[in-house]
Amino acid sequence: MDCSREIQGKQAHDDPILIEKMMNTTSSWRCICVPGPVIVGAGPSGLATAACLKERGVPSVVLERSKCIASLWQLKTYDRLRLHLPKQFCQLPLMGFPTGFPTYPTKQQFVDYLEDYARKFDIEPRFNETVSGAEYDTTLGFWRVRSVGVKGKGTEYVCRWLVVATGENAEAVVPEMEGKGEFGGDLRHTSLYKSGEEFRGKRVLVVGCGNSGMEVCLDLCNHNARPSLVVRDTVHVLPREMLGRSTFGLSMWLLKWLPIRFVDRLLLIVSWLMLGDTARFGLERPRLGPLELKNLSGKTPVLDAGTLANIKSGDIKVCPSIKRLKRFAVEFVDGKTENFDAIILATGYKSNVPSWLKEREMFSEKDGYPKRPFPDGWKGGNGLYAVGFTKRGLLGTSMDAKRIAEDIERCWKHEAKHHLAFSRSALLQCP
Ligand SMILES: Cc1cc2nc3c(=O)[nH]c(=O)nc-3n(C[C@H](O)[C@H](O)[C@H](O)COP(=O)(O)OP(=O)(O)OC[C@H]3O[C@@H](n4cnc5c(N)ncnc54)[C@H](O)[C@@H]3O)c2cc1C
Repeated sequence: MDCSREIQGKQAHDDPILIEKMMNTTSSWRCICVPGPVIVGAGPSGLATAACLKERGVPSVVLERSKCIASLWQLKTYDRLRLHLPKQFCQLPLMGFPTGFPTYPTKQQFVDYLEDYARKFDIEPRFNETVSGAEYDTTLGFWRVRSVGVKGKGTEYVCRWLVVATGENAEAVVPEMEGKGEFGGDLRHTSLYKSGEEFRGKRVLVVGCGNSGMEVCLDLCNHNARPSLVVRDTVHVLPREMLGRSTFGLSMWLLKWLPIRFVDRLLLIVSWLMLGDTARFGLERPRLGPLELKNLSGKTPVLDAGTLANIKSGDIKVCPSIKRLKRFAVEFVDGKTENFDAIILATGYKSNVPSWLKEREMFSEKDGYPKRPFPDGWKGGNGLYAVGFTKRGLLGTSMDAKRIAEDIERCWKHEAKHHLAFSRSALLQCP
């Protein structure tokens, strides 16, 4: 049986006009034509873009694979997490943080803020919809976005604009390690770590010395576990605050007037005065300064929230790279072997865009990031956009979201009178 259903929004400011076509009532397949943009991902980036679009009178549809907004923050982060950067650098466009929030809001405060944000802009993502494929149909001039819902129900969204907001942290990176199967203890990625409570009294090896690895070590110390930290690479550790200001804020301010190398030099001198020579504790610094390195490679300096004091005191032991895992033990590249009850992999995340977006111009197949560097990576061809892939956290998200909304609004106004015709013609083209 072939049936069509039309759901029409009252105005452009209201719900998008959806025309839904069900080829067969018994089939698990359906096609929905969306005159506005489809946004993939309901994290801060997807929400910010939907809000900026709404503000400009452009309705959108947000697709989210999990059951809630900001799933990274709600489901995959540890209890003690706070924003790493001061709140003024993390708020989304059009709505600031409540005045009572501390400088570094807790994870729960940030999630509450995002919930309020979604409510304020009336953003209701379609949850439990994992986008499994998206490609531009050159004949029609539309994007075809396929999602899989609960019980495998498939939907194809047909739209003129596609906004990729799946994030830099879409999938956990779990490195291959020789002897992984032999270890026998608890081995997990930080995305599954909640608190040091369950590791009380245990010997835990944390692999990776970015902000997450350092903070997990601190959390383990605070819960009387016995953490060791694998440091494979050079790393810049900076105090979170210096000269009475946040290090990040101070850097941004200095960069307005001074060249990056000069600011880097200054940061390193103050860090040395405050923290001492970190190389003495096994944390060698990279050859490039922290800001220059961030700009060139995206590698974020660690903002120390207290971990270094525990490294200095010996409560956290620094170890070299892992050679192989053994039964409840780890052999390091220096030939030493130590016993551990658990291993936490603070080995980061990666983009999942190449796994579902069939497009080769804008996104790199290798790392799933836009090929053009910041600040030009937000826009591709044929109505394709990226938000939140700048390696500049929520500040980058805000910049992208505003630009995208402005750009789409221009076409939206131009094409507004054709929207219903668009939907009808697209409906006829649904397979
Ligand atoms: C521990 C930690 C702390 C951080 N602290 C800060 C900080 O203090 N300040 C800062 O600026 N940044 C910080 N960041 C960076 C962080 O990436 C951003 O804060 C923010 O979460 C990025 O938002 P996003 O929407 O781009 O990505 P995410 O928050 O990752 O949201 C992407 C969404 O897309 C969904 N999705 C993915 N694939 C699909 C698919 N195929 N179909 C449908 N949905 C999909 C995901 O489920 C997710 O909900 C931190 C990151 C981590 C991991």
